[in-house]
Amino acid sequence: MSRLKYSGSYIFRGALLGATQFWRVSRVFSMNDLREVTFRFYGDLKRFLPQGKRTGAFTYAVKGSPAVKDTIEALGVPHGEVDGLVINGRSVGFYEPVKGNDTIAVYPDSSKIRLRKIKRLKPKLPANPKFILDVHLGKLTRHLRLLGFDCLYQRSYKDQDIVETTLSQRRIVLTRDVGLLKNKLIKFGYFIRHTEPDKQIREVITKFSLSFKTKPFHRCLECNGLIRRISFLRVINHLPPKVSKYYKEFVTCRICGRVYWKGSHYKQLLKVVKRISV
Ligand SMILES: [Zn+2]
Repeated sequence: MSRLKYSGSYIFRGALLGATQFWRVSRVFSMNDLREVTFRFYGDLKRFLPQGKRTGAFTYAVKGSPAVKDTIEALGVPHGEVDGLVINGRSVGFYEPVKGNDTIAVYPDSSKIRLRKIKRLKPKLPANPKFILDVHLGKLTRHLRLLGFDCLYQRSYKDQDIVETTLSQRRIVLTRDVGLLKNKLIKFGYFIRHTEPDKQIREVITKFSLSFKTKPFHRCLECNGLIRRISFLRVINHLPPKVSKYYKEFVTCRICGRVYWKGSHYKQLLKVVKRISV
């Protein structure tokens, strides 16, 4: 392929299916503008990198002096997964400019990797974490609510809804969308590694140390509202006859008003609680 200068931009000429093709490139840069830097990603940050860059250090060409955040996200790693950055032996923040010949180490938030003398980039999580989940995580939402955790979820959520809510309510974004986690406004974000719901809930419990914070059957599975007891007399007229005959204890959601009792569905949920608790 040859390269010709033309009207301030380059034209690349090549042969395709025997015919000469031309591509005009509107955004042009000279190869002289590119500078090589050396990256090394640690821990499970490697999973976000392209194949071929997941073992050891590798070189990468950058144009100009971009912020290191932009460079690591161009490689596929969302900044929300990064907890430490070291450039040429110096601990830096996300907006440190990258220059030619830099050596950059990128560390995850992981108890397996000790980040001594490295500035931690992730904000400290709230003591009682609350979550907001993307549209792909409906089953995980129900499991978390079943264990009593405060989780917002709507199938109609747009990315902007999630960003605004995490900002205003300090909720942790749980998502399978790497692109969403690259939004610079998201301070608390986590990419769910697993795809199976039972593994996902164990992953979240372990990641956020929730084992001792579970409160099963304290929250409505449908709307996230808290549950309270309600007297038999107040619900009797709204119950199927068989239910009012055999059950006398009821709870209701403070928000949507759903009434729950310990029927066969409750026994099934008890099995789920046992299965997903870590
Ligand atoms: Zn409810």
